[in-house]
Amino acid sequence: MTWQPEPPPPTELTYGQYSGWNCVWCNASLKDGGASAGVSRGDVGACNLDTQVYDCGPRCPERPSRH
Ligand SMILES: [Zn+2]
Repeated sequence: MTWQPEPPPPTELTYGQYSGWNCVWCNASLKDGGASAGVSRGDVGACNLDTQVYDCGPRCPERPSRH
């Protein structure tokens, strides 16, 4: 199993990132297809905002690296 950085919470994402249209790390457009970046988890009040998010892949310049 490959290590994946934990995505930011939904409250820190843009609408495009939250909707899966943009890379969750660098905000690049994913119109050519993205890779699963995991699940962004968070709540606003009683509303659960957990959502699947996507990134532009291992080449993403902003993707956090393992430390
Ligand atoms: Zn990216």
